[in-house]
Amino acid sequence: MKIINETDRNSYKNVWTLSELTADSIHPVSYELLGAAKKLALQRGCEVWTAVLGNVGEERIKTLFSYGADKIILINDKRLSSFNDELECNLLERLIKKYRPETVLFAAMTRGRALAPRLASKLYSGLTADCTGLSIDPENGDLLQTRPAFGGNIMATIRSSDHRPQMATVRPRVMPVPESDPGRSGEIIREYITSDDALRIKEIIRSIQTDGSSLNLNDARIIVAGGRAMKGPEGFAMLEELASRIGGAVGASRAAVDNGWISYPHQIGQTGTTVQTDIYIACGISGQIQHLIGMQSCKTIIAIDKDDTTPMMKLADIAVKGDVFEIIPALIKEFDKRRN
Ligand SMILES: Cc1cc2nc3c(=O)[nH]c(=O)nc-3n(C[C@H](O)[C@H](O)[C@H](O)COP(=O)(O)OP(=O)(O)OC[C@H]3O[C@@H](n4cnc5c(N)ncnc54)[C@H](O)[C@@H]3O)c2cc1C
Repeated sequence: MKIINETDRNSYKNVWTLSELTADSIHPVSYELLGAAKKLALQRGCEVWTAVLGNVGEERIKTLFSYGADKIILINDKRLSSFNDELECNLLERLIKKYRPETVLFAAMTRGRALAPRLASKLYSGLTADCTGLSIDPENGDLLQTRPAFGGNIMATIRSSDHRPQMATVRPRVMPVPESDPGRSGEIIREYITSDDALRIKEIIRSIQTDGSSLNLNDARIIVAGGRAMKGPEGFAMLEELASRIGGAVGASRAAVDNGWISYPHQIGQTGTTVQTDIYIACGISGQIQHLIGMQSCKTIIAIDKDDTTPMMKLADIAVKGDVFEIIPALIKEFDKRRN
């Protein structure tokens, strides 16, 4: 919403986060967001509020107080059991207009990435995606939103002085989880879905779990990732074989995902997941900057490629020049031999 004058600006108050739930708990990113929000709120002398939209009881969400929330806005409704961007966007738009938060933070995960841009456009607020740093300009209270720009070559700090609320998405595992204070409590504000919120253009008929449901790239210590060189799903089945022998998960470049050889939850990079594993084995991935952004902090990078001049081969701690269809079966054979 466009700021008209100083009175208008001062009518926006508090830092909000949107909490993320898992099937039976709170997603840790919710605590990371609260930690970041608390630091901003201390500088602004205001409160931290978090919105929880789901089919969820009050007991389950009380830990949000221990991690820094002063107030929780809860909408507990069966219609929020599975993610519906349209409905959640309508709800948040109404709540933001009603309570006028100065800043709203989302996790840069599926839900936040779907909701934040829609909301930003509805509220004319602007949005900085994938922030890695947040602070306050003490002069005027503007949120300074820092994120990599130009393919990660520079860090840009963005502000939206003329609009409120200020909105940003934050990558998981970038902000530290604050220390929990189990004695802390706060107020739960109950809100409800109105008939206007529930007006829908589309209806979810059924949800299908992809193979990504069992995938947790974030917790993996080893990732075996494949690129365009894998040529098809059979190539990825081979990577799965290797990964299963070394306790790893399978990742992919966008080229492989776009070709439909493996599903999107496996994608690593700027528009996929960011990983920080002990070992990252890149198989036939050239290492364009959009891929490197998602894995360059891995501890040991091993690259296999026919071409030893690619950015990935240059970045790798161990660069193996050769054909993936010869090297990977040989590795699988060797692991089997050693196990027997
Ligand atoms: C806005 C934007 C966002 C993007 N986001 C992402 C992202 O999140 N993640 C991502 O990965 N990409 C992303 N991309 C795409 C990115 O720019 C590259 O196009 C993509 O990463 C290339 O994938 P690749 O390395 O698998 O393919 P290629 O660049 O084609 O590389 C294939 C490699 O395989 C090697 N090779 C071929 N055959 C063999 C063989 N038999 N044995 C061994 N080596 C072989 C080749 O020498 C080559 O190095 C994005 C692009 C844009 C514009």
